[in-house]
Amino acid sequence: MKTYDIVIVGGGPAGLAAAVAAKEAGNDSILILERDHELGGILNQCIHNGFGLHTFKEELTGPEYAYRFIKQVLDLGIEYKLNTMVMDIAPDKTVTAMNREDGMFTIPAKAVILAMGCRERPRGALNIPGYRPAGIFSAGTAQRLVNIEGYMPGREVVILGSGDIGLIMARRMTLEGAKVKVVAELMPYSGGLKRNIVQCLDDYGIPLKLSHTVVDIEGKDHVTAVTIAKVGPDRKPIPGTEIRYTCDTLLLSCGLIPENELSRSAGVKMSPVTSGPVVNESLETNIPGVFACGNVLHVHDLVDYVSEEAKRAGENAVKYINEGCRDSENQDFIEIAATDGARYTVPSSINLDRMSDLLTVRFRVGDVYKDSFVSVYFDDERILHNQKRIMAPGEMEQIILKKSQLKEHEGLKKITVKIEAE
Ligand SMILES: Cc1cc2nc3c(=O)[nH]c(=O)nc-3n(C[C@H](O)[C@H](O)[C@H](O)COP(=O)(O)OP(=O)(O)OC[C@H]3O[C@@H](n4cnc5c(N)ncnc54)[C@H](O)[C@@H]3O)c2cc1C
Repeated sequence: MKTYDIVIVGGGPAGLAAAVAAKEAGNDSILILERDHELGGILNQCIHNGFGLHTFKEELTGPEYAYRFIKQVLDLGIEYKLNTMVMDIAPDKTVTAMNREDGMFTIPAKAVILAMGCRERPRGALNIPGYRPAGIFSAGTAQRLVNIEGYMPGREVVILGSGDIGLIMARRMTLEGAKVKVVAELMPYSGGLKRNIVQCLDDYGIPLKLSHTVVDIEGKDHVTAVTIAKVGPDRKPIPGTEIRYTCDTLLLSCGLIPENELSRSAGVKMSPVTSGPVVNESLETNIPGVFACGNVLHVHDLVDYVSEEAKRAGENAVKYINEGCRDSENQDFIEIAATDGARYTVPSSINLDRMSDLLTVRFRVGDVYKDSFVSVYFDDERILHNQKRIMAPGEMEQIILKKSQLKEHEGLKKITVKIEAE
């Protein structure tokens, strides 16, 4: 088997953008490994529009957006293998994969880019009482069935969870002639983007019931009804608030989990908040030369940010190869911490020498905040205090740090991002 400088695990938008950036940064030895039969990742089943407004200033469908990057990969002659499952990444960056033509094979890589995306939280992880009849799907599975396989999962639908996939599937099922009776959301706020609530629920008169959950599923062979109930602040159902909906389908859109089994077994340090790797300013994990980007790093709301982040991972992988291991043992890192309503930051540390002139730090808030401030502290000194009309857990936030500003604060040890009322 040939050796490669950079092996990219996953050929979704993150893997594609990282490959293009690495090639444009001057590396000619790149291999993308993708387990599916085509490149493009989850975007292939997202046939709605709304992709690419930031990157291309156009509204594209998911497959159109993916194709813009696939075309660049093809035009640049970047190598890829489809139907190829990566089974293991060793700490020394030896990648083990398998497919039908090559069988099991290993590639000793100089750098590895993790771009495996995420998967949906299944019913088993949700503790819903009731039978286990047919007719319960994750929203993404239903999306694949309708948009790619050409099957309708059902005609009368209840959706649990208001993540973006659930919202988009509420509209999709309606357009295909199904009746979506309700979207129930456990939290007092939606998990999805505001624009999806307006365009996918409000425009079609589909009710969104916040602070509600499913308390019963009826039907032995197939779903016949679903009962939801209001929950209190402790998220426990309130007796007497039950509403029963006859239906044949229950779609679950209750969160996404970054696919990090490979990262974990390689010894990559993980964040308990994002369930993705902990990375520095270069999007490099604790294993030198192993980088992460896209939904495997943290779940993104917009693919444009995935592409932008992945570009940085690709460029930094090339820098790593050209410069060798860049960390000396007692090198100083500036820590970035998230507190008071900010849940996490990506990245979570900065090496000032390697930082680019501008660094985008992304984070999410843990609740809905109105007319509050995003504050940034350099040690104890507040250096940024930006008012935002509204912040919600479903939407990613960002701040941009300037290298010159960090350099002015000699001896800076910690940057803190927090949400303040005033
Ligand atoms: C239903 C839905 C609707 C969305 N709507 C919008 C929208 O309207 N606008 C927008 O901007 N964004 C939207 N997004 C978000 C956007 O699609 C994602 O942010 C983006 O696809 C993430 O890219 P990724 O490359 O990180 O992951 P993915 O697209 O998931 O790609 C990961 C790839 O890695 C491969 N892989 C995983 N493990 C392995 C392995 N072990 N070996 C080999 N290959 C592997 C997978 O097969 C997959 O192809 C939506 C997402 C979903 C799910």
